Amino acid sequence: MAVNLQTIKDFRNYLKSELKGLYHEGEARAISDTVILKALGLTSLPELLMRQTEKPDDQAKEQILVMCSELKTGMPVQYVTGETYFLGCIIKVNPGVLIPRPETEEMTWLIINENKGFRGGITDICTGSGCIAIALAVHLPDARITASDISAAALLTARENALKNTADVAFFRSDILKMPPSRLPLSDIIVSNPPYVRNSERTQMRKNVLLFEPPEALFVPDEDPLKFYRAILDTAVHSLRPGGTLYFEINEALGRDIYDLMKSKGYTDICIYKDINGRDRVAKGKRK
Ligand code: GLN
Repeated sequence: MAVNLQTIKDFRNYLKSELKGLYHEGEARAISDTVILKALGLTSLPELLMRQTEKPDDQAKEQILVMCSELKTGMPVQYVTGETYFLGCIIKVNPGVLIPRPETEEMTWLIINENKGFRGGITDICTGSGCIAIALAVHLPDARITASDISAAALLTARENALKNTADVAFFRSDILKMPPSRLPLSDIIVSNPPYVRNSERTQMRKNVLLFEPPEALFVPDEDPLKFYRAILDTAVHSLRPGGTLYFEINEALGRDIYDLMKSKGYTDICIYKDINGRDRVAKGKRK
């Protein structure tokens, strides 16, 4: 350590300067604080600010420096600290699962708001870290939630997350592209945030997404970008009750195509919702 790092304040300044080239100033500050909070076992920024002149113990110092070197490789802060928050739930993450996005929080919040007091069954397909299913279980406590994913590693994380949040979710492993329809329980709502980024869109993505997040959770071939939606709509013929609702997170460029696909499968009341950035992000439809 070239510089003399003693107090929490020293570490904050050190981290901010180490991250300068990688992140904008505001982002570098937020990431530094996240890392220091984690190492000190604190939960709020005011608490950290009040203790700036205190000296972290050796273990915390070591942890901050390790996390700093991980951040400098471009690793997203959520993988570095191993956790993030999603609608008030703490969600463990690792490079085996996608980091939950604010757009996904928006979709899940929409489902919660549109279905207050809901008592039926909800199935989340391609659950990844389990964030959608877990937040639904926590915020719609009378619903029966089932969630599936192709990845055994993701399911391990999702199960851990359900336990951490005391969320009652039944998980099972399955490949939606191959799953026989009988594997899915009959439900009243199906939700999915499947892979939807076209391979050709890789060039527009941030390097830390490309280098660290699981490509199988993100990318689809340009020739068939809706393949997951089609597979889900096909299984929904057996597993979504007539009158049931489907919620999809979607690629902002494919709102029209998804609308047409849902219409061609006989869905009614189809809505495409925009996210906070004004981009088509959620498709909803009712099964006749
Ligand atoms: N919204 C994610 C991203 O932009 C993609 C999520 C997905 O493919 N389901 O990285």
